[in-house]
Amino acid sequence: MSTPAKSDRAAWLQGPSAECSAVPAERKNPWRLILLGAPGVGKGTQAELLTERLGACHLSTGDAFRAAGMQSSCSQSPAMRAALEYMRRGELVPDSTVWEMVRERSDCIVNCGGFILDGFPRTLGQAESLKELMEKEELSLSAVVDYELPLDDIIQRLSGRRTCEKCKSVFHVTERPPKVGGVCDRCGGHLFQREDDRPEAITVRLEAYERSTAPLIQFYKELGLLLPIVAKGSPDEIMARTMEKLEALSMRLLA
Ligand SMILES: [Zn+2]
Repeated sequence: MSTPAKSDRAAWLQGPSAECSAVPAERKNPWRLILLGAPGVGKGTQAELLTERLGACHLSTGDAFRAAGMQSSCSQSPAMRAALEYMRRGELVPDSTVWEMVRERSDCIVNCGGFILDGFPRTLGQAESLKELMEKEELSLSAVVDYELPLDDIIQRLSGRRTCEKCKSVFHVTERPPKVGGVCDRCGGHLFQREDDRPEAITVRLEAYERSTAPLIQFYKELGLLLPIVAKGSPDEIMARTMEKLEALSMRLLA
């Protein structure tokens, strides 16, 4: 058994000014994974569980954006400032800006004892940029884990969410019901369904996701890196399924 690497996300969250202090894993080929999955499949939870289990750095672009959003604008890099500006306007951040932001943090990709990329790449262009960087550094990707769930299941999961008007606590009508229907357990506030969680809005979001990731999935499938995982059941069940596939892959890589 190899000792998992000590992971450190300061460099990823703060950007180019911070250095990654992660200790490289003893494992000869540390896990270098990309996680894909539509909103509602539970990818974020799996990313956390996998990070703990594999001792790799969790490189989430969402977390990097949130961390940058809390910094003063003079300590943000130009790429990050530009990205946040697009997001404020509700526009899609262009590939070149997203890549610039990841490139500033390439130390985390190159020097970490393995990584789990979450939220990146989102487009074919971003995937090609990453491939180029990794080839230059003579690194190889272990796998692209793709969490799959039928559309109806995703709609059921997301449309059951209810949010407290006052404290913003999130409940679920079947998976995490409040003690009294429509009333927040924490503060007694009224629970409502966010606009984003209505089935029509979910369908629109999922269609947009499909459109941008379908070419990405094809790209990794052709490279023989795609590892589809059925995202049904509890987080622990999904995690067990993922580990089983990764262990099989690991045996194949070592053989
Ligand atoms: Zn509440």
